[in-house]
Amino acid sequence: LLPSLALATLLSYLLQARHLLTYALEAELERRATTDVLTGVANRRHFTEIAEREIDRARRYGNKLSLLMLDIDHFKRINDTYGHAVGDEVLKKLPGVVQPLLRKLDFMGRLGGEEFAIVLVETDGDGAAVVAERLRKGLAAVEVRTLGVQLHFTVSIGCTEVRVNEQAEDLKRALERADEALYKAKDSGRNRVVVG
Ligand code: GH3
Ligand code: MG
Ligand code: MG
Repeated sequence: LLPSLALATLLSYLLQARHLLTYALEAELERRATTDVLTGVANRRHFTEIAEREIDRARRYGNKLSLLMLDIDHFKRINDTYGHAVGDEVLKKLPGVVQPLLRKLDFMGRLGGEEFAIVLVETDGDGAAVVAERLRKGLAAVEVRTLGVQLHFTVSIGCTEVRVNEQAEDLKRALERADEALYKAKDSGRNRVVVG
């Protein structure tokens, strides 16, 4: 009786361990599928998913919602001057500066290259402009020290309130408006915020 009890205990222990391992493996796979490897923020696909969910939620509860589109100024010049590895370090540094300046429920993703997007929950257009200006200033004040170089960089930001009351509004349209605003920020000299 005793050996079979020991065997049963061992078996149940192994099964439990296997469950835990499967669970950890699934969590890791999920993380890899949703995270941008370089910066650690959400990748474009995951950002899109979350932003669409937030638009649905804002519509349903009549909450305000805004979007920011942020692009590093003259990033090509940073790569050309200091090398791609330093450019990568700048990209890695950015979320650590931005995220503490946001609220916990705001959500940031890397759309690609040196372009990031942020969903600001319960925030109207005026509020979004205030946050964007805070991010712009905060980032301009950062000195990046890496790989033997010291540098500053700036960003341009386009922001827009999501028009949750308009039927035709969706993430795509809101991002297009934010992108237009971003383009205007670039066109009018960079290192600035434009509301669209
Ligand atoms: P602008 O102020 O108009 O935004 O100019 P820019 O130079 O930032 O913009 P442009 O789109 O001309 O260049 C973006 C550069 O970003 C070109 C590309 O090689 C570089 N880039 C894209 N992804 C990465 C990356 O993951 N790492 C590094 N180091 N560079 C990247
Ligand atoms: Mg750029
Ligand atoms: Mg760009």
